Amino acid sequence: MADTKLYDVLGVNRNTPDAEIKKQYRKLAKEFHPDKNPEAGDKFKDISFAYEVLSDPQKRNIYDKYGLKGLKEAGGGGGPEDFNNMFGSLFGGMWGFPGMGMPRRRERGEDTVHTLKVSLEDLYTGKTSKLQLSKNVICSICNGQGGKAGCCQPCTKCKGTGIKISYRQLAPGMAQQIQSRCSDCEGEGMTINAKDRCRACRGKKVCNETKVLEVHVDKGMRDLQKIIFRGEGDQQPNIETGDIIIVLSQKENKKFQRSGNDLLLEHTITLTEALCGFSFVLKHLDGSDLLIKSTPGNIIKPGAVQSVMGKGMPLYKDPFEFGNLYITFEIAFPDNGMTSMENILTLKSLLGPLPEFIMPTGENVEEVDMHEYDPNDKRGQAGRGEAYASDEEGGDTPLQCAHQ
Ligand SMILES: [Zn+2]
Ligand SMILES: [Zn+2]
Repeated sequence: MADTKLYDVLGVNRNTPDAEIKKQYRKLAKEFHPDKNPEAGDKFKDISFAYEVLSDPQKRNIYDKYGLKGLKEAGGGGGPEDFNNMFGSLFGGMWGFPGMGMPRRRERGEDTVHTLKVSLEDLYTGKTSKLQLSKNVICSICNGQGGKAGCCQPCTKCKGTGIKISYRQLAPGMAQQIQSRCSDCEGEGMTINAKDRCRACRGKKVCNETKVLEVHVDKGMRDLQKIIFRGEGDQQPNIETGDIIIVLSQKENKKFQRSGNDLLLEHTITLTEALCGFSFVLKHLDGSDLLIKSTPGNIIKPGAVQSVMGKGMPLYKDPFEFGNLYITFEIAFPDNGMTSMENILTLKSLLGPLPEFIMPTGENVEEVDMHEYDPNDKRGQAGRGEAYASDEEGGDTPLQCAHQ
């Protein structure tokens, strides 16, 4: 016996064309809208629900074939609550919602995320990258139907639910219900006969297409910044297409470190340069040469930081403004060879005499030898006990061990 309740609610019949159903729905929805007709109670809900089902070819198909029960099993409404609300008013809440069959509302497709490697130079000067991607698009031959009109039928195995239910006996009289995806329709709930399948997409409703995206990397963009192409993701029928998200990944720069809008640079100079002034040329990220000078008499100490204003990164969205460049100086001291007695005397005369040394008196004075420390040389630690011998992983340096 055919179930026609939903048609009755809208005052139409099974043969009424879609356009007519829509017209009828609009008329009734206006008439029974709670704002206009607060007395109508649940009538407006019933009309909305009936239209929701009958305006969706897949739901209407299931309803025509299997009635409300089939629809309910396929999760025909919104969430379980919606479902019970709707049915509660129409049919007195006679069915509990079994919690199976996820509602198939119009969802949003997943976003596709791609990484784009860029150099710090790219982020400084900006650039346009062409990115070749492959993505699914709705088949243009069958318009995403998978075949000829009407070829899509509810799966006979799962009755359009997309779910296979099996039972496992746990104990006599006690069974566990197991849900799994229907293998015939791959959980879609609908199948297309092999002979009716669209040849272009082989019934898959989507085709793979190669697309080239032009990605504009703007001046001042950052590592991990996202560039979003709305609605360019994989297409699927009846699902809002997700986005393509390009995530920038900055390759390490050998020279510069970035800190926000600033650039950091380490530069090594000789002791002579540190004391007597220097000039050097720094190749910047856009290829330009910066002449950097320290005037004689301006002494640079090890680890000193000097700033060059306005020579950092361009600001994102404000590329005529720039951060700063900070240079940390390391000093390369001369090797042992130059410290001849003569040089030492000259240095003393230039840099000033050594501080006065007073030899302590008494018995508790021991003169010891000092050597350059080599963390890889274990010989020096020989006399220092078994603590090291038994602590193989303990480390490279006695300092580490001392902390343990
Ligand atoms: Zn097709
Ligand atoms: Zn199936």
